[in-house]
Amino acid sequence: MAINFDEFKAGAKDLFDKAAAKANEAIDYSRTQLDRGQLRSKIKEEYCKLGKICYDMHEVGDDRTGEMKQVIGEIKQLKTKLEEADAAVNAKKTKECKFCGTANDATSEYCTKCGEKL
Ligand SMILES: [Zn+2]
Repeated sequence: MAINFDEFKAGAKDLFDKAAAKANEAIDYSRTQLDRGQLRSKIKEEYCKLGKICYDMHEVGDDRTGEMKQVIGEIKQLKTKLEEADAAVNAKKTKECKFCGTANDATSEYCTKCGEKL
């Protein structure tokens, strides 16, 4: 029995390419998820910083408006990035679980992580 190795290799390569593409997609996707979480906490941090500057300013009486403007600029940039990340996720048509926040396939009925109905 002769095995057609070229055909076998082609088939294997095709499978491998498909698996690699899927893996890349998953990595891209989780990276987006991670970025959104990081962006949200970074925005929170910046708001805290802003509040602290504001507090100090009134407590001590120094004018730190410049610093505040800088932080506000930072927040604006982060918000834009978050909006972009949100849009990217929405473009993938996912359903976010109301219970655990996991992004599921738009066609899924139940959350892949916690099993709640979407
Ligand atoms: Zn869930």
